[in-house]
Amino acid sequence: MESTPFGTRRISTPVDIGGVVVGGGHPIAVQSMTNTDTADADATAIQVARLAHAGSELVRITVNTEAAAAAVPEIVRKVADLGAAVPIVGDFHYNGHKLLIDYPETARALAKYRINPGNVGSGRHHDNHFEAIVRVAVENGKTVRIGVNWGSLDQAVLAEMMDANSRLDAPRDAREVMIDAMVESAVRSAELAESTGQPHDKIVLSAKVSGVRDLVEVYRRLATRGDYALHLGLTEAGMGMKGIVASSAGLSLLLAEGIGDTIRVSITPEPGGDRTEEVAVAQQVLQSLGIRSFLPQVTSCPGCGRTTSTYFQELARDVQTYLRDQMPVWRERHPGVEELRVAVMGCVVNGPGESKHADIGISLPGTFEDPVAPVFIDGTLDRTLRGDHIVDEFKAILDDYVERRFPAGTRG
Ligand code: SF4
Repeated sequence: MESTPFGTRRISTPVDIGGVVVGGGHPIAVQSMTNTDTADADATAIQVARLAHAGSELVRITVNTEAAAAAVPEIVRKVADLGAAVPIVGDFHYNGHKLLIDYPETARALAKYRINPGNVGSGRHHDNHFEAIVRVAVENGKTVRIGVNWGSLDQAVLAEMMDANSRLDAPRDAREVMIDAMVESAVRSAELAESTGQPHDKIVLSAKVSGVRDLVEVYRRLATRGDYALHLGLTEAGMGMKGIVASSAGLSLLLAEGIGDTIRVSITPEPGGDRTEEVAVAQQVLQSLGIRSFLPQVTSCPGCGRTTSTYFQELARDVQTYLRDQMPVWRERHPGVEELRVAVMGCVVNGPGESKHADIGISLPGTFEDPVAPVFIDGTLDRTLRGDHIVDEFKAILDDYVERRFPAGTRG
């Protein structure tokens, strides 16, 4: 076990996925998935690169048809040409055994194959198809994720466990059996993969559900069944605030218990919305928990009757946007800048106090207060801004602070 901000972290077997190591105490990796038609190599490569640019450390693409499978090597080349060095994972359902055999270049190009044991066929086909995918992984030295999903749970495992439950003197409720069936499907599939030749350290497990309480229960049980690296995610989390809050709640509860080696946030984007939102949410979950830092954090008060203009809200938004926009350059030039803490406060009540706790903070004048904005740096009043250029002056102070506190090429 290794310590975390909340206690100890479950130590799993480290798994190398195209150069990104998950598990074994390595940083919890953020991953995402495209929603383009994989057969459209240009659109998919651009979205993969955008997700990587946003901070996704692994990107999954669906490989659902022959056209999609044929496009994968081109996608991988185009992503590299776009300067995004991100491992690409193939998501297979129903026909993965066929596509991976018929398109060997695709099998070589992908960093990992996701197999859903509920979608590889039924009856005698189930194990045959599953083993066929695993054999391709073994031949190519690739990692597999055995990804169970309650929407496509292996019906043979579920039926077997439901039957056994019904014969008990005191049968458990169906939810309990379903959760156990998910865990059982994942663990049995991992054992089948290993008996087919897949190394233990090339297997990741997941067992996703769409309810927070069920998710926590499934992963708690899965975490006790061996030391496989675990991929966490609330599946079909939903749209907008509901999806973000539900994902954050589920992931946070598990991460606080030390469970999870890589995470994905599965939120439904608005039509035409930005797919990278799921990366930003995943990063914010990890940063809010104090597990990893990705972006300077802005503390801002909610505002109240003491701030009757929108000026304060605009400043808080502008500062947050400014920090995010600077990060691609700052990340390279100012190592450690992601630890920066900024406060933007609305009035004198909590403004100076909160600003002193941040690395750099500004306390704006509330209604009826003197029109001055004290700026605190490292807990000390540095200067007072006034007039029409407070926003630009504060950004210049931020730039100067970053230059001094996180000099190029050193850790701050
Ligand atoms: S800091 Fe001032 S403006 Fe902000 S919520 Fe508190 S009292 Fe209201």
